[in-house]
Amino acid sequence: MIFRYKNISISLDEELYKDYISNHLKTSNTETGGIICGYYSSDLTSAVVTKMCLPTPDSILKQASFQRGVQGLKNFLKNEWDDGKYYLGDWHLHPNASPIASKQDLMQLENNAKDKTLKCPEPIMIILGGNKNCITVNIYLFIDGDIKVCERDL
Ligand SMILES: [Zn+2]
Repeated sequence: MIFRYKNISISLDEELYKDYISNHLKTSNTETGGIICGYYSSDLTSAVVTKMCLPTPDSILKQASFQRGVQGLKNFLKNEWDDGKYYLGDWHLHPNASPIASKQDLMQLENNAKDKTLKCPEPIMIILGGNKNCITVNIYLFIDGDIKVCERDL
């Protein structure tokens, strides 16, 4: 899948989350999520998501909220950086609901942009919704101090 905002594209392979999300939805009704890693094209206009990480052990998974923890992230990101991969943003699941960002989600995205340890001034937020038979996706991008919704290429 390719998502776009103006000249920026983000590519995401559903294989990165499909099995984990389907399994999660079979056994749990909580939100879940984690960080997203990947790389950029040399002109920085396209981002490729290569990993959607599982929740860190200190993440808080509730029925209508997800708070991503930080445990182990510093070391994990260092290894990714050594491999030419970077923190691109966060993802989380809205179980049996639409993948529309809540006010809290938008605040989190803005906070991620400001978080110096993440070194990502223009992060993305992938929100998954739907159910185990049909997972839906929205991608939000923080850019030029504002939050934009990316359009999915058909
Ligand atoms: Zn949310």
